[in-house]
Amino acid sequence: MSKKYLLSKEGNFYKANLHSHTVFSDGMLTPEQSKEAYKKEGYSIIAFTDHNIYKNHKHLNDDSFLAIAGYEIDINEKGKDWQITKTYHINLYDTNPEENIDIKEKTPLPKQDYNNIKMLNNYIKDMKKLGFIACYNHPYWSLQNYDDIKT
Ligand SMILES: [Zn+2]
Repeated sequence: MSKKYLLSKEGNFYKANLHSHTVFSDGMLTPEQSKEAYKKEGYSIIAFTDHNIYKNHKHLNDDSFLAIAGYEIDINEKGKDWQITKTYHINLYDTNPEENIDIKEKTPLPKQDYNNIKMLNNYIKDMKKLGFIACYNHPYWSLQNYDDIKT
């Protein structure tokens, strides 16, 4: 029986963190400190996805490191303690980081209307037009189940 590999044994491989926060939201490190700390652990890619604020840290890019620009939005249920609040957390990664940086830095956040899935999907579609791709984050931590994500 021959072995089958899901990933090619040939080629270049990069260690990446696709969800990170800095002092621009609730992180402990500046983007520069994050880069240094992750590089020491063998990472060559970090997506900077601070809460509700788009930041483009392209000044950190060099031949051995890529800083992916992005941000993480949240839409929360109202009226509950945060420990029992259902929430959507979605990362938006910028696939076109050289274009429209000024517009992206002023990008409005989605309305805090937890049950309005149509609004959320329209927001994601609008961000897609600016070059973002979306990633639905940590549903278990967000207290969500299949009913929350099936639409
Ligand atoms: Zn999150």
